[in-house]
Amino acid sequence: MWDMKSLNMEELNRVFAGMGEKPFRAKQLYQWMHQKLARGFEEMTNLPLSLRERLTDEFPYTSVKLVRMQESAIDGTRKYLFELADKSLVESVWMKYKHGNSVCISSQVGCRMGCAFCASTIGGLERSLLPSEMLDQIYAITLHTGERVSNVVVMGTGEPLDNYENLLRFLELLTDENGLHISQRNITVSTCGLVPEMRRLADEKLQITLALSLHASTDEKRKKLMPVANRYAIAELMEACAYYFEQTGRRITFEYALVGGVNDTPQDAGELSRLVGKLNCHINLIPVNPIKERDFIQSEREMILSFKNKLEKNGINVTIRREMGRDIDGACGQLRRRQKATMQEVAT
Ligand code: SAH
Repeated sequence: MWDMKSLNMEELNRVFAGMGEKPFRAKQLYQWMHQKLARGFEEMTNLPLSLRERLTDEFPYTSVKLVRMQESAIDGTRKYLFELADKSLVESVWMKYKHGNSVCISSQVGCRMGCAFCASTIGGLERSLLPSEMLDQIYAITLHTGERVSNVVVMGTGEPLDNYENLLRFLELLTDENGLHISQRNITVSTCGLVPEMRRLADEKLQITLALSLHASTDEKRKKLMPVANRYAIAELMEACAYYFEQTGRRITFEYALVGGVNDTPQDAGELSRLVGKLNCHINLIPVNPIKERDFIQSEREMILSFKNKLEKNGINVTIRREMGRDIDGACGQLRRRQKATMQEVAT
């Protein structure tokens, strides 16, 4: 059984040919799914009723159900919790910026990367999301806000490069001119650093931004925060980043979560400068968002500022990530975890 919303135009044409339907019908269906953001076949009123009924009988149609929405009183950031067909929960974030609206989506239900400071990984990986389920988060938010999404970041729950094929199809459909037609340059994919997949992505020669969650400048420190550092050394990561730039011309973003007393000293800033100094890159400093299951604390404001200054003095492009939605469980995976905990309480 085909998940119609994950098929590209060519595949959809083939399925429709097999059903004895004309190609223009396939195009109509595609536009209903990806442009008009229909929530079911029954909404597709310019398709003959008999075809709508046939589609409903023969094919599942993914769409997400809104379970909860929290809006920040501080900055208007919204956090959405969605339920998928199999009752899995995913969360997405909607942020309003001067230059447009940005959505942060999840790529998996849970995560198996095990980063020490991250709430999304605590229950492990449940499953990867289908291309349609990644799109549905954006489509549902577009319908709910009534506003166009211009930027997409794949930075929610999950490791996108651990769901490589589906991620790529998602990107193809999201940027397609018969869909939302979001520019590749307005899309960022964040990875904890799976080297072979980073290189593979570079070879696709897309114009998307690759963000690498670095968080430490020595292997020893990185291993304490991120188990994936046992698989790939920082030196290999840097080579993969240089390769990505070579292949795509796109500047790499490094994410660096500042954890009080762990990776925020002037020495850390110096090592980080040496490490990335030769690359065309940008560093995003993220004051770590403490989660209740772990005892990591945020760096002091002064430490954060002097860390930033030191990088700037070394000629590195750096920004401190604005903390959006502090009042609404902004940190990755927190809303989903809380909802699951409350549901368990109700169940027992
Ligand atoms: N798996 C991907 C994308 C999801 S995480 C990755 O690792 O990049 C998105 C970003 O949020 C990563 O940089 C991640 O390290 C960071 N992050 C996770 N938990 C955080 C927390 N509690 N505080 C600050 N940043 C966090």
